[in-house]
Amino acid sequence: MIWNKPKECMTLEEKRNLQGERLRKLVERVYHSTPFYRQKMQEMNITPADIQTVDDIVKLPFTTKQDLRDNYPYGLFAVPMSQIVRLHASSGTTGSPTVVGYTRRDLSIWAEMTARCLSAYGADQNDIFSVAYGYGLFTGGLGLHYGVEHLGATVIPMSSGNTAKQIKLMHDFGATALGCTPSYALYLAEAMAKTDIPREDFKLRIGILGAEPWTENMRKEIEAKMGIDAYNIYGLSEVMGPGVSHECQYKDGSHIIDDHFLPEIVSPDTLEQLPYGEQGELVFTTLTKEGLPLLRYRTKDLCTLTDEVCKCGRTSVRMGRIVGRSDDMLIIRGVNVFPSQIESVILEMEEFEPHYMLVVDRANNLDTLEVQVEVRDGFYSDEVMKMVDLKKKIAHRLQSVLGISADIKLVEPYTIKRSEGKAQRVIDKRVFN
Ligand code: ADP
Ligand code: ZN
Repeated sequence: MIWNKPKECMTLEEKRNLQGERLRKLVERVYHSTPFYRQKMQEMNITPADIQTVDDIVKLPFTTKQDLRDNYPYGLFAVPMSQIVRLHASSGTTGSPTVVGYTRRDLSIWAEMTARCLSAYGADQNDIFSVAYGYGLFTGGLGLHYGVEHLGATVIPMSSGNTAKQIKLMHDFGATALGCTPSYALYLAEAMAKTDIPREDFKLRIGILGAEPWTENMRKEIEAKMGIDAYNIYGLSEVMGPGVSHECQYKDGSHIIDDHFLPEIVSPDTLEQLPYGEQGELVFTTLTKEGLPLLRYRTKDLCTLTDEVCKCGRTSVRMGRIVGRSDDMLIIRGVNVFPSQIESVILEMEEFEPHYMLVVDRANNLDTLEVQVEVRDGFYSDEVMKMVDLKKKIAHRLQSVLGISADIKLVEPYTIKRSEGKAQRVIDKRVFN
């Protein structure tokens, strides 16, 4: 179902006009309310009058996570604190946290856009959502929570952790939808299979999975193990939180809520805007946000965009899967390696569980990559030769995908630590200075 047809199915011309109008007002607003942006624009010799249509976006300065850190905690807020009703902070996956603030109107837009996502997954008032994203400073829990309430469905504010209780309540309360990271969904699926409650006794049908990169193979694995329809949800605290984009029933890219967030793809090296279809860094301008409006925020997330109208009727720009963050790309012996490439190889092979760990180190001035991976029950063997063959098989596939060799360490099922939130799958022991 489409929650907000007038906004989600506008013609491209209507959309351009709306975005242009909103952009013009946004620039006017930040120029007068945020010294940081005024100074940046003055340095670039531009004034709000230079911004008339969406195409003028390229004239504007970029904003980075570092800018938020340099202005910690409230330096980039565009309204007085008396108008801020909530704070969140990013989870700090890649450094110290950054603080974001929301006005009452920001929160109501956020709830509405999250309701759009849930509706696109086929959920409605009759659904019962177990929200197993962390509640607290992280935007995942509360972000999804208010979307569920706005949709008029029922929310179980589970938060993360306490897996046994999660499973019991999903069962007892008849949860039909589950929101959590893909890595936690896998963990839950395994744990559910170990209980004595048969799968038919659960009503689960929809998974709202995001907050970390995952692959198509990971989706298949989760859908098969948990018996649900798994949908992607994407977002980041700086821009809003979960719900910046979402899949629809066609699962062919994620629809960006582009009446509120203007997307661009730029080259991470030159910062030039790239045409749709090319892979680059995703950049967002928050067209309507009041508390912490951002001009051209560099997400560091790498993906492609398309503006082809989707079969579902929504006209929003869609983003492909995030292949990684430009800052979690590993450079190993000079070759760019994304953890998602390794995940794809592992999940294509029936011999392995979707649980792995990458350890990067340096020996004799040469980078080393060790891939630890769990062998599936039934494929693990005491026969050394069998294990050696299996190692060779995966090593060969990884070599052909990555272009470099990796040391493989096969481990028994359930030995790699499971994650309840964003999975940490890379240990980089190299010291860079
Ligand atoms: P951080 O992790 O930077 O501290 P957030 O908690 O706001 O801050 O996380 C946002 C980041 O999480 C995004 O920039 C992106 O890298 C990742 N992310 C969120 N949702 C998805 C998703 N569906 N697919 C891939 N990556 C995602
Ligand atoms: Zn669609």
